[in-house]
Order: sequence, then C-alpha cells, then structure tokens
Amino acid sequence: RLEDSFEYAIEAEEFEVWYQPKYDTMSSTIVGAEALVRWRKDGELIPPFRFIPLFESNGMIAKLDEYVFRHVCRQQKRWQEMGKQLIPISVNISRASLFFSGIAGRYEEILKAYNLPPEFVQLEITESATLENDDISSLMNKFHNTGFRLLLDDFGNGYSSLATLNTMKFDILKLDKSLIDYIGDRNGEVLLRHTIQLAKDFGLNVTAEGVETKEQLNFLQEVKCDDIQGYYFSKPLPLAEFELLIKTA
Ligand code: C2E
Ligand code: MG
Ligand code: MG
Repeated sequence: RLEDSFEYAIEAEEFEVWYQPKYDTMSSTIVGAEALVRWRKDGELIPPFRFIPLFESNGMIAKLDEYVFRHVCRQQKRWQEMGKQLIPISVNISRASLFFSGIAGRYEEILKAYNLPPEFVQLEITESATLENDDISSLMNKFHNTGFRLLLDDFGNGYSSLATLNTMKFDILKLDKSLIDYIGDRNGEVLLRHTIQLAKDFGLNVTAEGVETKEQLNFLQEVKCDDIQGYYFSKPLPLAEFELLIKTA
C-alpha cells in the first residue's frame, strides 16, 4: 500500500521535513539541525522506520532523499530571504541512494539552482554504507569538491570499523545513541572518551546523538565533545516551531 502511494505522495508533497536542533556542548547555543522525514498520510504522521527500509529495498529512497535535500535547500533560501541567520542543516543519504549514479552532480545542480553556499546543507551517510560501496571514496571526493561537509552517521551502532575513521575523509563523526547510553558505566566511558579523542586527532568534529540526560551532557562537556543532538535539548520539531529557534541576522 505504501509502495503504491509513493509517487503520488511525492507529487502531493505528503512528505514533511522536521528539524532536530544541534547544540554547542559548552555554550548550549543552537549550531545546526538535522532534517528528518515524516509522511503525512490520510491524517496520520508516519515515522521513517515504517517506510525507509521499504524504499531502500525497492530503490525509491533515492528519489525521497533528493526530495528532502531539495526541500531543505529551498527552505534555507527562504530563511535567507527572511533575513534569518543561516545554520547548517544536515540531510540523510541512504546507502541505496549512493548507488544511484550521478547523485553528486544532481545535488550540486540543486544547490546551485538555489544559489546556496554548500556549508549550509551537510550530508549524513551511515557507516554500513561506506563498507558496502567501493566507489564511496570517489563519491566523497565529488561531494567535497562541491564544498559539502560529510557526516559519518550512527558510528558505534554495530557496523563500526576504526578503519573508516582512517581511510574515509569524513568531516564530522556522529556518535550513535547506543554509545551515549554507555555513560555511567566505567568501561563504556573509557571507550567514549578515547573514541572522541581518536576522532579529534583525525581532525573530525564530534556530535553526540540521542543525548537525553543532564548526566550525559556533563560527561560530554568533560570529554569536550563538540556538539549535542538529543531529547535533552529538543526533539525533532515541525517547521513552524523550529523556525522560532533561528535568529534573525
Ligand atoms: P538518524 O539519521 O540516526 O536520526 C536520528 C534519529 O534519532 C531520529 O529518529 C531522531 O528523532 C532520534 N533521536 C534523536 N534524539 C534522540 C534521543 O534523545 N532519544 C531517542 N530515543 N531518539 C532520539 P527518526 O526521526 O525517527 O529517524 C530515524 C531514522 O530514519 C534516522 O536515523 C535515519 O536513518 C532515517 N531517516 C530519517 N529521515 C531520512 C531521510 O530523509 N532519508 C533517509 N535515507 N533516512 C532518513
Ligand atoms: Mg542522521
Ligand atoms: Mg544517527
């Protein structure tokens, strides 16, 4: 049923983009956000876990990822025209979308069509994607040549390979919630402390995902994690609510 409704849903713009703010760990000021898709269908708001895996398996995800990317570019342009101070918004790119040839060129074209500097739309790629795609390095170079910053999403969720940090030229590491949940456990904290230091020594910025408690925030401040994303500060917000958080320049 969801599969059959996809094309119509894209046309009718049933996919909504929600925004989860990211905060500077030390100052607690907003420094960016992640765009997260939801499907407004027959009055119901369907969360991504109910349709992303399906669209990954049938190839429709490339179209959805591009839709979200275009949507965010358009929104950033609007905010710019409204005199808002732009902050980087990251979008997710599924492994399956990466196989779609020409993705780097298309994203560059869309960005240029909106005349938007590349630093304001960042790209999140999961690690499982990097393991399965041999051509990922050349693709990452193409994205970098356009000026995009690349985020390694869900690091530590089971597919983690230290070699990824060494061989892949990511700009920002996103620590998965499963690692953040180690906080409070002695060995878990040792692992986190050193993972953050390792990433920093490789020149990466580090964002912690799924931060829910003050105790987690305190630890992440102590180990100098750069940014925080999680319910402690904010859940993903619909456009109108998120917009109130971004300052007028
Ligand atoms: P993700 O990219 O790792 O996004 C983070 C997910 O963690 C979001 O779930 C967010 O709401 C949730 N989260 C954030 N902070 C907390 C917290 O403190 N506690 C808990 N329990 N959860 C937190 P969401 O929005 O349901 O998205 C789930 C996944 O769906 C995303 O994981 C991403 O992999 C995928 N997704 C969402 N939008 C897109 C998209 O446009 N394209 C693709 N390919 N995947 C998407
Ligand atoms: Mg993500
Ligand atoms: Mg993630």
